[in-house]
Amino acid sequence: MQISESKRLFAHAKNFIPGGVNSPVRAFRAVGGEPIFIKKADGAFLHDEDGNAYIELINSWGPMILGHNHPIIKEAVIQAMEDGTSFGAPTAREVEIAELIVSMVPSVEKVRMVNSGTEATMSAIRVARGYTGRDKFIKMEGHYHGHGDSFLIAAGSGAITMGHPDSPGVTEGTAKDTLLAPYNDLQAIENLVVANEGEIAALILEPVPGNMGLCLPSPGYLQGLRDICTREGIVLIFDEVMTGFRLARGGAQELFGVIPDMTTLGKIIGGGMPVGAYGGKKEIMEFVSPAGPVYQAGTLSGNPIAMAAGLTMLKYLNTHPEVYTRLEEIGIQIASGIASINEKLGLDFTINQVGSMYSLFFTDEDVIDFESAKTSDTSLFGKYFQAMLRRGVYLAPSQYETLFLSTALTDELIGRILQAHEESMKEILI
Ligand code: PMP
Repeated sequence: MQISESKRLFAHAKNFIPGGVNSPVRAFRAVGGEPIFIKKADGAFLHDEDGNAYIELINSWGPMILGHNHPIIKEAVIQAMEDGTSFGAPTAREVEIAELIVSMVPSVEKVRMVNSGTEATMSAIRVARGYTGRDKFIKMEGHYHGHGDSFLIAAGSGAITMGHPDSPGVTEGTAKDTLLAPYNDLQAIENLVVANEGEIAALILEPVPGNMGLCLPSPGYLQGLRDICTREGIVLIFDEVMTGFRLARGGAQELFGVIPDMTTLGKIIGGGMPVGAYGGKKEIMEFVSPAGPVYQAGTLSGNPIAMAAGLTMLKYLNTHPEVYTRLEEIGIQIASGIASINEKLGLDFTINQVGSMYSLFFTDEDVIDFESAKTSDTSLFGKYFQAMLRRGVYLAPSQYETLFLSTALTDELIGRILQAHEESMKEILI
């Protein structure tokens, strides 16, 4: 595989962009080697600057659930472009997408559009604080909610991958209002509630965390959180930036039947354009300016091109339930295929999967939280990543990420992924 043009671009990029990339994990630091520069993407494939093609298992970190460059999204964007790229004023499309989100996501009665998942979570916490009049909030170790200051404490995703989960630049004053708990541990929440009686505004979590690798909630865990929050007047926020519109039309809250007070959304909601959103109960969302006193704004929020892409994506998902059946099939085929190859090779590695998300951990421990995720052999993961890449399969370049599957994966491509997995495991281990 020739990657000389990617190498040249990376060397050049480092002169002008910190680390040569616009988001840290893209630099491939955790897996060795150098990043691949992408020229275009179509269906299940990424194409790099050297003319190599890769089967996609990240899909832009989640948004491309129907595969890349899907004709209906492309058409919607081109059509919207005809009328101008930004107005900074209300549009009919914004109302339509808001109404659709409210009809799809069980907890959302009112919704505000923003430009990223980071903005969605920062705003949701501010609203929860304004609503309750309390300052502190609980987050889970290893969960990632974007790069807002108060979330960069024991954060997952790039923050662990780059080895500094507590970022310089976050003040002690900010950090003291973020309370930490291990995921899947209800007693830890009870203890925090007792120790901070009447001071906790919100509890935010990824209901199905993907940012420490994929973990699943233990039976009863999400309902347990719901009960504690209801009892204590704490705003329960599900960060469904990854899981929203992916695990089901209504996200993890629909799949697990537990309804939070607020929900943050991103990724799929923009159909590949930069979009996020936060929403929730009417009485909470009425605190958002200009209806209420909590300020939050955005020059490009509700951008007409982004709304056209997002609306088309959500309408499609809303009217094609077979997408979720197929994604579940694909997820199971890949995860069970990997598990049986591993068994055949005498390997005992943990694989977590739900619907179209999965992670393979290089550990034989059950991975249920940040501590157990960290038992994975990350240097072995790096070798596996490179071995898969050489065979034309593009994985997330870190152990502490989930993979995101798309409906563009055919049975033939799944066969190729599994063959690449078997060859890669043999190469790195046997
Ligand atoms: N929340 C979750 C659960 C995420 O996975 C991410 C990004 N991967 C974010 C928030 C931040 O979103 P963005 O990168 O769009 O700011």
